[in-house]
Amino acid sequence: MQAPTPATPPADDDTQTRHAEHGRYPQALTVQDFQRNLAAIQARILAACQRAGRDPSQVRLLPVSKTMDESRIRLAYAAGCRLLGENKVQEALRKWEGTSDLTDLRWSVIGHLQTNKAKLVARFATEFQALDSLRVAEALDRRLQAEGRALDVFVQVNTSGEPSKYGLPPDEAAAFIQALPAFTALKVRGLMTLALFSSDAVRVRQCFVLLRGLRDQLRQDAPAGIALDELSMGMSGDFEIAIEEGATVVRVGQAIFGARALPDSYYWPTQT
Ligand SMILES: *Cc1c(COP(=O)(O)O)cnc(C)c1O
Repeated sequence: MQAPTPATPPADDDTQTRHAEHGRYPQALTVQDFQRNLAAIQARILAACQRAGRDPSQVRLLPVSKTMDESRIRLAYAAGCRLLGENKVQEALRKWEGTSDLTDLRWSVIGHLQTNKAKLVARFATEFQALDSLRVAEALDRRLQAEGRALDVFVQVNTSGEPSKYGLPPDEAAAFIQALPAFTALKVRGLMTLALFSSDAVRVRQCFVLLRGLRDQLRQDAPAGIALDELSMGMSGDFEIAIEEGATVVRVGQAIFGARALPDSYYWPTQT
């Protein structure tokens, strides 16, 4: 007998967060573990793209290796990862130095940066996703010019309205972007956000909708040379919702590497 016809796929609005799994993901300890986790995430990316009628080649998976030691980074590399996201600059720098034999492994800094650490990012990073002040833009540009390097950057926007979160308030993004062409070593690619950390999928989705709407609006009079094609949004617990709302980069840590030992408050401003 034939299997019953599957129910019609859920409407977009039915996609839930997976924040309940936060802190419980099993550790990936072998290359096969990493391969399996990466394949599972790619399958979920594909399914989310299909629900949204999007081309999966337009969504990049950025594995986030923060807190994971060098041996785990080497396993991820062996499983095919060539660009890894790190939240803290000094931790990223240490890992970059420790894996200098992996010459095609590149680093994306996705966390808040203090001006006095801009020189470190300028030295080794390929991408910086948390630009939210002109002082940091200026410091990065100066050091990049000195190193003869360029850096892909994303402007971080606070879409959750939580005062504790980094990122520009949405209504300050336009003026900020207008000032960026002065920093010629910064290649502006798009916007980045962290959604509200909540199991309320409707409110999480609103953060992503806000970022996309803002990007569409800013793109209309973006200065020459400022591309706003990219939307970096979504992590282990909410990347499918982010893809449904237009994410071009999803930053996934725990669902690939396993749960982190350090609390999130070490990396993010404490939730209020
Ligand atoms: C840690 C981190 C992520 C990934 O979070 P997971 O829950 O591990 O997927 C994404 N973005 C930023 C800015 C992070 O610091």
